[in-house]
Amino acid sequence: MNILSEDGKSIVRLSSWEEVFARPDFQRDVDPKEVTLKTILGRYEFGTKEACGLSNCHTKHQNGYLVLCSNNIETNIGHKCGKNYFGVDFEHMKKAFRKDLNVRNARINIEEKICQLDVVKKRISSILQNGGNECFAKMRDYRDKSATGAIRVKLERRAKSGDEKIFQTYEPTQKEIEFEEVRLNRRVSSDEIAAMITKEQVGVIYGAKAFSSYAKIKTVLIDEIPNLIKQAGNIDTASLRPDEILVWSKRLDGIEAGFEEIQRIVEDCKRFLVQGNLDTIARYSHLL
Ligand SMILES: [Zn+2]
Repeated sequence: MNILSEDGKSIVRLSSWEEVFARPDFQRDVDPKEVTLKTILGRYEFGTKEACGLSNCHTKHQNGYLVLCSNNIETNIGHKCGKNYFGVDFEHMKKAFRKDLNVRNARINIEEKICQLDVVKKRISSILQNGGNECFAKMRDYRDKSATGAIRVKLERRAKSGDEKIFQTYEPTQKEIEFEEVRLNRRVSSDEIAAMITKEQVGVIYGAKAFSSYAKIKTVLIDEIPNLIKQAGNIDTASLRPDEILVWSKRLDGIEAGFEEIQRIVEDCKRFLVQGNLDTIARYSHLL
């Protein structure tokens, strides 16, 4: 269970009913007619059931909220009771609570990620040195020197669709058409001839996507992530607005996703650049 501390600035984690009941201002049997709610302090999902803290309810539940009442005491209410007894105000508090929690988690995430920026820099060098630079250079050379003209257009189309299979198609021979006409005892239509076309897979372009995606090795590792690191180094989380906190948290989470994407691209490049694969592309260039 995540719970906002009373100062509203940090998150205290409570892990059991005992910890909830042990809070100094916690009380049971709170009469909802005598109090209003100030705020939601926390949301819980425990494995066991306990009675609702409202005196007119007492329904046993395992999912609910720890709330702060107008008289400054805390109690627990089941997840349906809040709306039942406190109406639309409770719905607003729920939304505000969820947003507060998200912002606080995002702030912690940003602070953790900023501490790891040196690790991020090392990872960039490591990926570039362990195949990234080499794959980029070889793919660029292949595009510039070997895959020119129509073949480049075809490979770009393959890279976009991710379709790696190479098929040879066979039109029906005159003999097959005649045989079919004998079998049907009539002329066959052009549609029927089209339906007689067969295709057979003759090869695979391994790592087809790499033909276009290789460029990202440089854009992501040389431009995007380093720029993000530079900006992130100057962040002061205390002065950011809540919406800015959420955006920054997401951007920093994107670094890991960026690395994963680049690792996949480097693997695709390696598969693409195998000589046998390049030979296949050259041999079947008319079928791509
Ligand atoms: Zn209740």
